[in-house]
Amino acid sequence: MDYDVIIVGASLAGCTAATAYGRAGLRVALLERHRSPQAHKTLCGHFILGGTQDVLRQMGFWQPMLTQGAAVTTGLGAWSRSGWIAPPPGSAVPAAISLRRHKLDPLLRDLASRTPGVDLMLGHRVVDLVEDAAGAITGVVVTTGGANRTTLRARLVVGADGHRSTVARLAAVAEDHAPNNRFLFWTYYEGATMNGPGDGQVWLMDRDIAVCIRAGDGLTQVGVFPTKDRLPEFTNDRATAFSRFVERLPDGPSLAGARQVSNLIGTTDYPCIRRDPAPRPGLALIGDAATASDPVPAVGCGWAFRSAAWLAEATAEALTNGGDLPGALRAYRRAHRFIDKYDALGRREALAKPPNAIQRAVRTAGVSDPEIARRIAMFSMRAAEPSVLLNPKVVIRSVVGTQRRRLALRGGAALTGPRR
Ligand SMILES: Cc1cc2nc3c(=O)[nH]c(=O)nc-3n(C[C@H](O)[C@H](O)[C@H](O)COP(=O)(O)OP(=O)(O)OC[C@H]3O[C@@H](n4cnc5c(N)ncnc54)[C@H](O)[C@@H]3O)c2cc1C
Repeated sequence: MDYDVIIVGASLAGCTAATAYGRAGLRVALLERHRSPQAHKTLCGHFILGGTQDVLRQMGFWQPMLTQGAAVTTGLGAWSRSGWIAPPPGSAVPAAISLRRHKLDPLLRDLASRTPGVDLMLGHRVVDLVEDAAGAITGVVVTTGGANRTTLRARLVVGADGHRSTVARLAAVAEDHAPNNRFLFWTYYEGATMNGPGDGQVWLMDRDIAVCIRAGDGLTQVGVFPTKDRLPEFTNDRATAFSRFVERLPDGPSLAGARQVSNLIGTTDYPCIRRDPAPRPGLALIGDAATASDPVPAVGCGWAFRSAAWLAEATAEALTNGGDLPGALRAYRRAHRFIDKYDALGRREALAKPPNAIQRAVRTAGVSDPEIARRIAMFSMRAAEPSVLLNPKVVIRSVVGTQRRRLALRGGAALTGPRR
């Protein structure tokens, strides 16, 4: 074997896995089609949810990200029709972090390439897979341009090559597509002022969503996620439609006097794609190659970091000792269920239906009940299993609490009598 592991794609997922495997003493080929170490993904909002903080710290990425100018968001205020929901101070919801990809991707590539055992090969595009007679994936065929082809072999091949994964296509892995009924655009401002609670805000309108968050380097990122029935408005005059949307946000950011420092960035269609994370013997998929979720709840970067770390954790020992790799890949698939559960919920949210009665009750309770607000924040940050919010006790507490408050308000009104 040329390597213990071949990783295809040197972005968030690939660099994380390569760094972890290298630290475990394995020989890793990290292949990236782009030639420049500065290459980065442009279509990404780079807001990394708090549930990923542990992995970023364990991997030693958190501090270098801060050094590069990342912004940390400790408490996101969420606007709903019932009012603002904010996690109470001291509620131990892990902070989110944001570093623009033109800094994040090169940083991770640099950390991976400096890890002993990791060979970062830029300008290496995977064009085919090698498999044995039993159908196990045993290597890749790469090109550096022109007609030349090289074959590399390893016990494990990892597809970290994004939502259009060439590796998955070459391995004939089944894809499960789901529609996304929202589109999205964002831009960055210097000198914007936030007016909502917390150090960032999200607006949960009936079907449309918007965000205002710190993006690092003193910039504020403002993003809108309208439903697709508003597409004509944005197609006619995107800039005006965007400004109008932001101006109408309750307690929205003050942008008068702020300088917009980028064009509008976004996409009008981004379907959700899911693939089995351990689809064939000798093959694993991580990051978007396994699950490309709706971008609206900002989960993808976190999933990329976390799935990569889980894969390395599950398989490093088997790869080191020549142990049970199929068993280790099954353990990875089990760990990935955390993502699968959230992705199933995310797919429903991506249909952009108005909130149902339970969602409305929970949001209403979150405005005045600190425990519900904490649970909403833990769920939103993907910092615990979905059951932290989606359980019968939370629903009962929300419904009963809201009814009590309504009765108390009516009682108060009765006591004070009608206004003259
Ligand atoms: C509009 C939009 C906004 C988003 N905003 C957020 C957000 O705010 N927060 C968040 O958490 N997530 C966000 N995401 C999701 C996030 O961008 C992705 O989940 C994340 O980039 C996935 O990382 P990855 O490493 O799996 O894949 P990618 O970052 O896509 O990297 C794949 C890598 O593989 C390489 N590659 C591909 N094919 C080959 C090949 N054949 N050979 C060699 N190399 C190859 C590519 O060049 C690339 O470097 C957003 C996504 C979109 C579309």
